[in-house]
Amino acid sequence: MSDVRVIVPVLKASSRQPTKRQALRKIFEDSTDILEADLKSRILLFRKKINFHKVLEELEKGNWKKVEKMLPWDKYPDVFKYLDKKYFEGISASGTKSREFFNRSISQIMPVVVKPLMRFDEKNPRIKKWINQNTGALIKDISENSREAIADTMKQGFRVARTPLEISDEIRHVGLHPRQMKAAINYRSSQVDNYLDLGYSTSIARRKARDDFYTYSDRALTSRTKTIARTEMHRAINTGQREMWQQALDQKILDPSIEKEWVATMDIKTCPDCVAINGKRIKINEKWLLADGTKSDIAQMHPNCRCDEVLIFE
Ligand SMILES: [Zn+2]
Repeated sequence: MSDVRVIVPVLKASSRQPTKRQALRKIFEDSTDILEADLKSRILLFRKKINFHKVLEELEKGNWKKVEKMLPWDKYPDVFKYLDKKYFEGISASGTKSREFFNRSISQIMPVVVKPLMRFDEKNPRIKKWINQNTGALIKDISENSREAIADTMKQGFRVARTPLEISDEIRHVGLHPRQMKAAINYRSSQVDNYLDLGYSTSIARRKARDDFYTYSDRALTSRTKTIARTEMHRAINTGQREMWQQALDQKILDPSIEKEWVATMDIKTCPDCVAINGKRIKINEKWLLADGTKSDIAQMHPNCRCDEVLIFE
């Protein structure tokens, strides 16, 4: 007998699988809420390692080089290192959940198949490799971003002239993306102008703008950790499903000719790139061509992406 367990095109099933998407969505929501708060508190802890009195002192003396060396960058990767555990939890939970739905779909198509159809092996070395690579790449990326934001500040690469106190405030808010830091600095300077226009003295205008800067930067940090948490957990959960499929291919439960479909969450927030790719189909082992020209194993167009992929049993 040839391998009867290989899925052949027999039945047209729904390509939307809303219940599975809901189940994966739940895993996603549960894990991101905790992760984003956790990331934020770890960054705040890192900031506490910096001696800001000393930083200000050196800035006032114009010792830029010294200030740069006062930031404990070697400790920064620790903030994100524990993400490897979160990746594993996401991959394991989504792999196991996807397997349930997968087996259910298969038994509808081929009731003859002996159970258990497919198990999910969370100890597969591919998972460990993926987690290591991803954690490393993320830490590198985030560290570079954070250093760049501070380097920009130090180089006074912005048009507005700032006092040592203002620059030390910016260094205090390490952890922002360079774009966010730039926006926060511009916001502060425009707030100074606003308060001056309202008739406040220069010193009061500066003090009020400083408070505004702190509020703004704190919100920016929340938004940054939220984006990191959502993007990374989305990646882990989609990867868990992808890994489960790969194991089904390895076990010859699935045939490599099977197709998968990109499914975007369609609402007013959906970006044009995700709308454009929604509903596209490729073979299970092919990579998605993203709008920026790169290729991806999973359906993720950009940070904060809410897209998924489903297998087409037809
Ligand atoms: Zn998307």
